[in-house]
Amino acid sequence: MIGSHLDTQPTGGKFDGAFGVLTGLEIVRYLNDHGIETDHPLEVVNWTNEEGCRFQPSSLGAEVFAGNVPLQEGLAREDLDGKRLGDELRAINYLGQAPVTGRKAKAYIEAHIEQGPMLEETKCPVGIVDGSMGINAFEVILTGQEAHTGTTPTGRRRDALLAASKIAIAVNELANQYEPNGRATVAHMRITPNVRSVVASRVALTSDCRHTSQEALDGMTAKLKTVFEREAAAGKLDMESRVYWSVPAQRFDPLCVSALTGAAKSLGLKFPMMSSGAGHDAIPVSMVVPTAMLFVPSKDGLSHNEAEYTSPEQLAVGCEVMLGAALTLASAA
Ligand SMILES: [Zn+2]
Repeated sequence: MIGSHLDTQPTGGKFDGAFGVLTGLEIVRYLNDHGIETDHPLEVVNWTNEEGCRFQPSSLGAEVFAGNVPLQEGLAREDLDGKRLGDELRAINYLGQAPVTGRKAKAYIEAHIEQGPMLEETKCPVGIVDGSMGINAFEVILTGQEAHTGTTPTGRRRDALLAASKIAIAVNELANQYEPNGRATVAHMRITPNVRSVVASRVALTSDCRHTSQEALDGMTAKLKTVFEREAAAGKLDMESRVYWSVPAQRFDPLCVSALTGAAKSLGLKFPMMSSGAGHDAIPVSMVVPTAMLFVPSKDGLSHNEAEYTSPEQLAVGCEVMLGAALTLASAA
């Protein structure tokens, strides 16, 4: 199986996901054009809802495939307007009938843009991904009290937005301590009542931490929880937190990794071994099918941004490595 996803972020570019799906298509076209038949069949996959910006969790299609989320539960997920994924898929004729789980595959390889600066900085045309960062992602709800911004002295406020801001800063400091293999971020806040002259009574924020080592991730996660508790207490706020997404740090399949490294070496390419910091469909898929990934450079390391860019030549090199790996993995030997 070769694939990735076609969904994107509201401010996303053209390459995140689309490159991986088109790589699969291009490989099948190349084999057809040249009359090449493989021992094992090749399938091209477009995974549903990888980004998770509308329906949680991320990589929902791949999570259902891997058996981590039951199909009916996945289809029942709602967006912020209360619309169900299953209904929305039916509306665009994407609600298929074929069974999703239990599908046997010998291997899955996914090509993706790096979404970071390392390949460009080191002038490497590809990176071979032999594992992924573990992720723990929290929703944190801070509850204080609405108050008049003109008449309420700061000492009498229970300001949820102020505490949320301090959490964002403290999480960034934590991230700095764990560079280069760890990350931590506050990326989303919903503020209530979110009006100009009222102290915010409630903030729901999301914060995630990631690390290549599970042990370090566990340490980061404990520190992250301490940050939430400390700032909520300092702001005299009630605080609830829950993990809404958790993925252990993982190693990919050695045979899939060696198929990719073999293909890159036979093309004479210089490449680093990398660990993925982003979530990808390959991560849940790797729990049920031997898997590895290939990265191509992202201009200025930009992604989830309309300026995201990888040149056609760079994409073609990645596609050639994927072709070589696909031929190795699809042979009977
Ligand atoms: Zn992606």
